[in-house]
Amino acid sequence: MGYREYRGEEITVYFDKDMCQHAAECVKGLPEVFNVKAKPWIAPDEAAAKHVSEVINRCPSGALKYKI
Ligand code: SF4
Repeated sequence: MGYREYRGEEITVYFDKDMCQHAAECVKGLPEVFNVKAKPWIAPDEAAAKHVSEVINRCPSGALKYKI
């Protein structure tokens, strides 16, 4: 399936659900950005790009990537 793109003003987030190991680093780290109940579930502009990238760097599976 590959990565889906979630474009924000400062940061664009990419997510591949087939790679996700559901470690929940993202939803615990920044619930305002990564909210599985919202559609789309990633809202890159709900936090500073710096914080979004920090949380993405903690994703253990490589399912999340970003471009500033
Ligand atoms: S941190 Fe990565 S592996 Fe964990 S739930 Fe989020 S996207 Fe999936």
